[in-house]
Amino acid sequence: MILSEKSKQHADACRFCWMCHHICPIGNATGLERCTARARALGLSLVSRGAIEPTEIVDNLYECCTCGGCVNVCVTGWDPVAFTKEARLQAALDGILPPAIEKLVDNCLSTGNAYGKAELDAALRAAISRHAAPTDTLLFLGVDARYQAPQQAEHAIRLLESAGVSFTVCEDEPPSGVQLDFLIGAAEETKTQMTAAAALLNRYDTVILYDPVDAKAVRQQYREYGVELTAKAVTFTAFCAGLLEQGALKPAPSGKAVVYQDPYALARDLEETEEPRALISACADLSEFLCNRRETVWAGNLLMAQYLPDVIEKVAAHRIADAERIGATVIVTASVSEYAALRSVPQDKVEILSIEDLLLGETEGC
Ligand code: SF4
Ligand code: SF4
Repeated sequence: MILSEKSKQHADACRFCWMCHHICPIGNATGLERCTARARALGLSLVSRGAIEPTEIVDNLYECCTCGGCVNVCVTGWDPVAFTKEARLQAALDGILPPAIEKLVDNCLSTGNAYGKAELDAALRAAISRHAAPTDTLLFLGVDARYQAPQQAEHAIRLLESAGVSFTVCEDEPPSGVQLDFLIGAAEETKTQMTAAAALLNRYDTVILYDPVDAKAVRQQYREYGVELTAKAVTFTAFCAGLLEQGALKPAPSGKAVVYQDPYALARDLEETEEPRALISACADLSEFLCNRRETVWAGNLLMAQYLPDVIEKVAAHRIADAERIGATVIVTASVSEYAALRSVPQDKVEILSIEDLLLGETEGC
C-alpha cells in the first residue's frame, strides 16, 4: 500500500495523539480504541514503515464513517478522513478490499447502489410518476432514500407538493457517486459516476438535494473531482426554509418538544445549521443536544449498516441515550440515513421523526 507523503505525514502526526479520542461516535459507541482516529493512524503508520501488512488493517479502514468529528476538533489541522479515504483507494487498487466491501462496490458498479437493488417501491414509483414531466427544478432523492427509505422519499415529494412547487423527479435517477467515494475514495469509477450524475443535474436550473451526503458531494466534492456543475444546487432543508419564509409552506403546530440531530454533512461540511431549525421552530418547540451544530455526533447510517449492523445499532442507541439524558422525547433529523439508523434501535422512549414527517404532521411509523 503506497500512501502519499501528505497522508503519511498526517498519520504520523495523529498516531500517538488522544486529543480527539472523546469525539469519535464509533469509538464512543463501541468502546473500542481501534475505532478511533489515532488507532487507524498508528496502523497506517506501521504499514507505511513495512512493519505490518496492509491486510492486517484493511478492515479497520472501514470502521470510520468519515463524519469529520475528529477533523473538526483538531487544533493542529491534521485530517484522518483524508488519509483513511486515500488508504481505501489504495486497498481497492491493491485488490485487498474486505469481501463485504468488495460486494458493496460491485453492487454500486452493477446497479448504481450499494444495496444491489434494481426495483423501486411501488408507492414511491407512483409519487415519482406525478413529477415525470420536465420542469426547471429537479428533486434529487439519492440512493439511500430511493432504495432503503422509500417512505421518506415519498414524504419529501409530498412536502414539496403541499407548498405548490413545480418540480421533476427522475425514475431512473443516476447515483451521485457518494457511495463509491465512501467505499473506494477518488477512483476513476467514482469520478465516472459523478460525471454522469452532473450531466443530468446540469439540465436543470435548480437541483434540490434531499440527502445531505449527496448535497455535500454535489456542492463540494464534484469540484474537487474536477466535475463541472452549472445547476444551482440547494439542500432540501434550505429550499424548504425558503418556502416557509415565502409563506408557501404552512406547517400546523405539532405540539411536540423536539431535539434536532444535525447531520454532519449539513452542519460541518455545508455550514447549514439554522435552516432546519427555522423549519422545526415553525411547528414544534426546539431544544438542543449538548453536542450540536458543528459539534454534532453522527447517529449511524444505512451504508455501514450493511457490513457493521451491530456497530451502527450501538452508535444510534448512543445518540438516543444522549437525547434521553437531556429529557428529549422526540429526535428530528434531516438525514434520511440517520433517520433509518435511529429507527432501527428497538426502543419506545424517544420518537424518531424526519423533518418532513414533522412538517407534514406525520407520527412515527406513518
Ligand atoms: S486529528 Fe488531530 S486531535 Fe485527532 S488524533 Fe489526529 S492530531 Fe490528534
Ligand atoms: S471521521 Fe468520525 S468516525 Fe472517523 S475517526 Fe473521525 S470522528 Fe471517528
